Parts: sequence; structure tokens; C-alpha cells
Amino acid sequence: MAQVPSSQALLEKIVSLSKRRGFIFQSSEIYGGLNGCWDFGPLGVEMLRNIKDAWWRAMTGRGGIEGIDASILMHPRVWEASGHVQNFSDPMVDCRECKMRYRVDHLFGEMSEKKLRAISKATTLEGALAKTLNMQSQEVTKEQLAEILLSMIEKSDTLFSELVEKELIGCPNCGRVKTLTPPRNFNLMFETHIGPVKDDSNAVYLRPETAQGIFVNFLNVMQSSRQKVPFGICQIGKSFRNEINTKNFLFRTREFEQMEMQFFCKAGTDEQFFEEWRETRWNWWQSLGMPESKMRFKPHEKLAHYAKAAGDIEFLFPFGFGEIEGIHNRTDFDLTRHTEFSGKSLQVHDEQTKEKYTPYVVETAAGATRGFMALLCNAYEEEQVEGEQRVVMRLSPSIAPIKVAVLPLVNKDGMPEIAQSLEKDLRRSMKSFYDDSGAVGRRYRRMDEIGTPFAVTIDSDTLVDQTVTIRERDSMKQIRIAIAGVRQYLMDKMD
Ligand code: ATP
Repeated sequence: MAQVPSSQALLEKIVSLSKRRGFIFQSSEIYGGLNGCWDFGPLGVEMLRNIKDAWWRAMTGRGGIEGIDASILMHPRVWEASGHVQNFSDPMVDCRECKMRYRVDHLFGEMSEKKLRAISKATTLEGALAKTLNMQSQEVTKEQLAEILLSMIEKSDTLFSELVEKELIGCPNCGRVKTLTPPRNFNLMFETHIGPVKDDSNAVYLRPETAQGIFVNFLNVMQSSRQKVPFGICQIGKSFRNEINTKNFLFRTREFEQMEMQFFCKAGTDEQFFEEWRETRWNWWQSLGMPESKMRFKPHEKLAHYAKAAGDIEFLFPFGFGEIEGIHNRTDFDLTRHTEFSGKSLQVHDEQTKEKYTPYVVETAAGATRGFMALLCNAYEEEQVEGEQRVVMRLSPSIAPIKVAVLPLVNKDGMPEIAQSLEKDLRRSMKSFYDDSGAVGRRYRRMDEIGTPFAVTIDSDTLVDQTVTIRERDSMKQIRIAIAGVRQYLMDKMD
């Protein structure tokens, strides 16, 4: 019987297995680590690469999508045009006593419904609720309550402090009341300097998203690759955000990798493309083994000022549903802003109407590293096999870091030599691993734990009839086939 341990325990097990088996290490661990930064070990980097490759093939392989790799540092005006300098900030509060810092939206997001209702009673929120939603406050969900409370705090200079004074909000960490500061905006972009002198005139930012590298290259790509609207540009790369709350492993980190695609189309066709991309991306995650039962699509209740439609593909992490990819209809906002700020037209010519227009953009913004974590959590299972616990990562063969293990049953009678030669042959087509240490059952378990879908065992029968057993990770069933057919068999299975 398969078992999935409960939330916190599951996360701890995955973090520990990740370190032990070489998926993920804490950044600069020997110095005590660096918050919000993680390193991908030998298995982690293979799996991450498999995810990125699958995404890249899905994007560039469908036709009409070109790839780029823009630099991380960009002209500072880019971030003025995109709105990041002004708007890419979160309201933060600090606890004066224990020094913990919180994002105000997280503070409310994590509050119990009872607490939220108590706060709403003590403020003018009840009236605002009825007015805004035109319904009875009893019907309002917890999420809606938090959302409305937040927007009221954003609009008022004093509301948050009043709630603190009335002891309606305290510090979740130390439990003290009247210790939280008023909210202050905190920009999430990392700033650095170009050249030897450090002053405001040469400040640049580490990009907080890959999208802007695509917008500013829109014309370059269209002209050089002779594309016509509608077409897309995709990119995989690192992004940096000075996130405040970096708990939950790879979910929210300060340095992470994104896989973004911006699809340029004419206004009027944008809604259809939005729907198409939403479906395409939903199906892509499933093609990597993510079941529909652990996914949901959540439309944004509050749209960004530039967005016409937006929603998130979410995965059920051990701590609850969380976004893995955003699908946004960004209208012509980005290209219009870059036209304004750069003074360069980013319009295209409509061959039918002979008019110029600025394309709309439908964006699919996925997290490679956050997606990696989702796929790891999705795959982890524990089960009882013949009275023993088996930990198995049910990773789809396409993303598993090692595809096949080759094992000589014993270290004698020429078995290691046959196994080594087979492993060397398989290595040309897939990531394989040779292991001859310990009982074969233990070797299978080690492979199950890292998600290796197949194990080939060389035994005494191999010496007689040149056949081997192939054991399948999930069912643990074994079949016997000729050694000469192993490579083709695995390639077919992998397909
Ligand atoms: P969130 O609301 O979780 O902060 P977001 O809406 O700001 O995310 P986007 O700007 O839409 O995220 O980024 C696209 C994707 O990039 C997200 O779906 C997520 O997978 C990934 N991502 C964003 N921020 C982080 C982060 N700090 N760490 C890891 N991945 C991230």
C-alpha cells in the first residue's frame, strides 16, 4: 500500500533525501548556508536539465516559437519602463521585539478565518464588504476577506497601525502584541553597479524576471528569424528577487530559474490564444507525470493594472496549493511602454489593413526550479514491500536523473565485466549507472529512492544464454530479454 506522509514531515523527508542523494544542497553550506539560495547536486542538475529540455522542445518544437538567451543585467531604463522600479515591491512590517519581517499579504493569508472575521468586525470592513461584493458578509470566503482587508490597508495610512494598537494583529513569531511597525514598501530587485565606481548613476539590477529580455528583443528576433505575428519567443534563465519569506525549500528562493514564453498576437485574437496556451501548459505539466488531482487553475481575482486576464497553474505542495506557472494576457502594455521609454517604435505592419499596430502579448511564465520541487514532491512515495519500507520516487522516465542502473548479481564469474560493457553501451543513449556494491535488493532500493525507472541485472543465466532481467521501478515486475535488445527495449519504453 502506497503511503504519503503528512505535510511538514513529507517536506522534511524530501529535503533530507535531496541532500543525502545529491539532488539539492544548501548554498555555501560549510559557512552555514545562505538564506533563499540552493545548489543543485549531480542528480538535481540532471533532473532540472531534463525539465528544461522538455520545456524547450515543447516550445521551439511546435513551430512559430523562437528561443533567445538575454543577459541578466539590462539597461536600468528597462525596469522603469516595465514598472518594476516603481511597483515591484511588497508592503512589509517588522516586529520591533523579535525582528521578524513579514509581507503584509502573507500575514493575512496565513490568518485563521476566525481571526479575519474578528478583525473585519472591528473595522469598517463589514460595510465595505457588503458594498464591494454586494452580498452578505457571511458568504464571503476567507480568501476574499483577506484580499479586501489588504486593499483597505493599501489605501489607508493608518489602518494597519490601528489594528496593531487594538491588539487585533500581533507577531506570529513571538506572539507579542503592539510590536509590529507600520507597513513599508520594500523593492524586491537586487541592485548592483556597473564599473568601478559605486554610485546611483551606474546602478543596475539583477533581472527579477526573464520576460523583459524578450520584449526588448522583440523586433530583433522577428526580423532576424523572419517571423510574422502571431509568433512567440521563449527563454530559460535565472531570475533574482530579494524575497522576504524564503521558507518552503525551493518554492520561494532569491535566485531561481524561469521558463518564459511571450506570444505576440494581434488584439482581438488574444483571448483565444490565452485559452489555447492555458490548455497547452496545463497538459505539459501532466505530460511530466503531474496528476490532475494535484493541480488546479486559479484565475487571478485581482488583475495587475496591465493585464486583461491572468491565472495560475497551481500544484498541491505539502503545505497547500501554490503557483508553478502564471498565464497572463498582458495586452500591448509592455511593448507600448518600451516604445515610450526607448523612443523606438515596436509596432508591426498589418499586411491586410496596411496599418501599423502594437502586438498584444500572452505570456506563460513557469518556474523551472519551483516546478522541479513540485515534481519531486509529486513523485515521493513510501510503501510497505514484504514487511520493509520502500521509498520510491515515481518520476516520469523523461525527467528521472538516471534512466537505468546496470547491476551484476555477484562480483564474480565475469558478471561485472558484462555489466560494465552493457552500461558503457547504454551510456551513449541515456544516463546510466553501474552499481556492484551490496545485496541486489539494496541496490534496487537505492535506485527506487532516486527515481531510476529501470534496473538491468546480469546473473548466472546471462552467462549461459545472454539474457538479462529488466526490473521496472513502479511495479517491481521483472522480465527477461536478450542482452542485445536491452537498449532498444529501454528506448521504446522511454518514448
Ligand atoms: P509568487 O506570487 O509565488 O511570488 P509570482 O506571481 O510573483 O509568484 P511570476 O512573476 O508570475 O510569479 O513568476 C513566474 C513563475 O516564476 C512562478 O510561477 C514561479 O514558478 C516562479 N517564481 C517566481 N518567484 C519565485 C521565487 N522567488 N522562487 C522560485 N520561483 C519563483
